[in-house]
Amino acid sequence: MDLEQRRILRTDIPGPASKSLHARRQQVVSAGVGALLPVYIDGADGAIMRDVDGNQFIDLGSGIGVVTIGHTNQQVVDAVSNQANHYTHTLFTVTPYEPYVRAAELLTSNMKGDFPKKAAFFVTGAEALENVVKIARRATGRNEIAVFDHAYHGRTNLTMAMNFKRHPYGTNYGPLASSVTHAPMSYPLRDPEGMTGEQAAMRAINYLEKRVGADQLACVVIEPIQGEGGFIIPAPGFLATLGKWAKDNGIIMVADEVQSGMARTGKWFAYEYEEGFQPDLVTVAKGIAGGMPVSAVVGRADIMDMSHPGGLGGTFGGSPTAVAAAVAVMEQFESGPWLNRALEIGEIMQEKLDSMVSKYPFLAERRGRGAMQSLEIVEPGTLNPDAPMTEEILKACYERGVIPLSAGTYGNVIRMLPPLAISNALLMEAMDVLDSACSDVATSRGMLSISSS
Ligand SMILES: *Cc1c(COP(=O)(O)O)cnc(C)c1O
Repeated sequence: MDLEQRRILRTDIPGPASKSLHARRQQVVSAGVGALLPVYIDGADGAIMRDVDGNQFIDLGSGIGVVTIGHTNQQVVDAVSNQANHYTHTLFTVTPYEPYVRAAELLTSNMKGDFPKKAAFFVTGAEALENVVKIARRATGRNEIAVFDHAYHGRTNLTMAMNFKRHPYGTNYGPLASSVTHAPMSYPLRDPEGMTGEQAAMRAINYLEKRVGADQLACVVIEPIQGEGGFIIPAPGFLATLGKWAKDNGIIMVADEVQSGMARTGKWFAYEYEEGFQPDLVTVAKGIAGGMPVSAVVGRADIMDMSHPGGLGGTFGGSPTAVAAAVAVMEQFESGPWLNRALEIGEIMQEKLDSMVSKYPFLAERRGRGAMQSLEIVEPGTLNPDAPMTEEILKACYERGVIPLSAGTYGNVIRMLPPLAISNALLMEAMDVLDSACSDVATSRGMLSISSS
């Protein structure tokens, strides 16, 4: 797919062709599958998505951090079609194939940590989480698992229970899995002023020791930067303190890098930013294969090998076309400028977003790392979340052909995960659209009357 890297608005958003497809969909697709922006896509390339009405959008979401390497990246497309021409399925646990092994080599050799590593592939992020918990329980002989406030881990039975927002993800879908405990997260914007990362970690550790008991815990699972929770970055020292406590107590430390991993923040994994922190196991999915469905658990070989043959796997786990795409993505991350590009994108976004934070009293802060950036929206002068205003700003962006996403426990975070293939010009254009959307929404609410009069 070759698309001019340009924003084009031909119709109202959504346009007539999208509306008619949406009407068809509503006849046959479960209402339980949401539709945030019912614009139907018929082509995508780099950082541009084209809809069935010929509108072209600047993508600031990458399908929630999936097409990190860019839409229809040529090496990924070639790898998938080449693989599909050779074989599409044999089942790795019966008659294996090389691309699975190659993908495991690339993943293990790019995970930091001074120990032998092994990997296993699955299909979805939630399935990687399900399996990491199995692996940790098997290795420790313990049942309990600890997760954090504002966390998101998926929509399967176990991961629904691991999400902080049991509502709406688990609403009326119970009974949910037990032996899952949520501990307080480090959330610098909302924690008591001056609370250090160490103090926030001790708050979580004390809670877990009282509520569960350290010797009962198989694993602690944490997103080094929380995704759905609103790109919350814990205070420095939080993860290191937590990791040390886990190690001292024989608890397996799991970094859920499904959203924050795979070059998104300018490193293979976001945990690499945390001095003194080394997870035992890491879960990856979203950005690993340019849109092909594959996930993985990677980490300490001794822990990974405690699972008995037959304990891990699944029909489609690490399917040939998916791991071939993962190899194409990871080889480009290894040899190409992608990690640096994520940092450059981050710098451009930070400068622009920081200037917006100083200009608009409803922006509490910008936070993020590399090409994973966000804005938290509040009622001016308070920390009260303003979800309706967040929605209005997003809607204004969509109508103007730019697609950022929402996030946050309180629905008041605008998150941006642009494809790393985005050009500087397109990125600045998208930032300017976001700025004007903020300005227009604030003006219509009478919030900027002083500065604009
Ligand atoms: C999206 C996500 C998951 C779940 O992945 P799915 O592929 O949607 O099952 C798990 N953890 C994190 C951090 C995520 O962002």
